Amino acid sequence: MAQIKTYARLKPTKKAYNGYVISKNVLTMHIPDNKDFVILGPQNNLRSNFSYDILFTNIFGSEASQEEVFDGVARDIIQNFLNGYNGTIFAYGQTGTGKTYTVEGNTNRYSSRGLATRALSMIYQELEKRSDQHISVYLSYLEIYQEVAYDLLNPAARSMIPIAPFARVTVVEGPRGSCILRGLSLHLAANEEIAQMLLLQGQANRKVAETPVNQRSSRSHAVFTVYLQVRKHDSDVLVNSKLHLVDLAGSERVSKTGVDGQQLTEAKSINLSLHHLETVIIALQLDKPTSAVGRGDNPPQQSKSNSSLMSSGPSSDNGGSRQLRFVPYRNSLLTMVLKDSLGGNCLTAMIATISLEPENLGESISTCRFAQRVACIANNARKNEEVDDKAMIKRLKNKVAYLENQVALLRSK
Ligand code: ADP
Ligand code: MG
Repeated sequence: MAQIKTYARLKPTKKAYNGYVISKNVLTMHIPDNKDFVILGPQNNLRSNFSYDILFTNIFGSEASQEEVFDGVARDIIQNFLNGYNGTIFAYGQTGTGKTYTVEGNTNRYSSRGLATRALSMIYQELEKRSDQHISVYLSYLEIYQEVAYDLLNPAARSMIPIAPFARVTVVEGPRGSCILRGLSLHLAANEEIAQMLLLQGQANRKVAETPVNQRSSRSHAVFTVYLQVRKHDSDVLVNSKLHLVDLAGSERVSKTGVDGQQLTEAKSINLSLHHLETVIIALQLDKPTSAVGRGDNPPQQSKSNSSLMSSGPSSDNGGSRQLRFVPYRNSLLTMVLKDSLGGNCLTAMIATISLEPENLGESISTCRFAQRVACIANNARKNEEVDDKAMIKRLKNKVAYLENQVALLRSK
């Protein structure tokens, strides 16, 4: 069992709120004496005007490069993915704080390449070293917008003829609680060039659906997935793993967005699906004994003051009791797709993108509070190995045929 690792990435700014103190992995926030920030203290007493510590696995400061973020967050997960373990990295935070920059990167500058591009480079470089294996790499790119799932790489979109509407994807529950994505195209990518091209096409398609009025890409969740299938020569064992790189919609609260009509519907469904994500995380967090917090190889965040930050959104406080809870994965498409990644068979990391500007303090508190909960979730990643029945039957048939030949040869002598 390993806890989900949580990282903070701070967006560069010239006018940071002076109530932040940043060390290697602790972000200290001074909560001002202000009724907008209601803090529940250890004895359920309301507190304000105090400092609150949030522990991360690591904090990437404003000056951190894309390479540093990749090395710090993704390299280990990808190495494990190459060895048969599922991996997920997701970016969570307010709109404009750098989620897309972190996951997709900026195509203008080579040094600004994001996690997805760098992940593909690393994957193909490592796979090139393996000559004793049959390897297949497939890619898919899913977008969830207003509780509808779309395929960003469907054939019509790939040919670059009028792209919208994208093919719809149906998300259903499969055997043993698995998630089946009907209608999501899988693309075999024989080399890095093909893979990078598919990634770029998916990213471009996501952008194309957007107009200046409709900031669709900030309001949708995008899940880029790499599937790896490996079989050693002369072996019947298949190793399957998948890597999700997730750029979530902006996490800001509806009340602050001040929108109406179509945009309000969007804001509601963004928040609804992030609300369901939070509900799943709370259920998973509460499954764990509270005493486990802070132990293990990957210490999760914990508050020195043992306070919980109460801003808007669902409350998790139930006196810290421990019960096995129903985890409501099926309440939204996002939580169904990420079921393995949250409390399941996966090595997962979260990057909380944070703005240090004073007017964003409320949202930053909310992002940190979310990260604190995520850090309490334990996943149980295991190597995905299975015997390939078809390969085994084929090998045994060949063997029988060979032995029959030998017998016939000996008889004829
Ligand atoms: P989000 O996806 O969270 O809404 P974006 O990734 O689109 O935010 O970032 C908003 C803007 O800020 C973009 O122009 C992006 O290039 C820039 N930006 C975000 N984070 C960084 C960073 N760490 N370094 C440099 N520029 C950044
Ligand atoms: Mg974005």
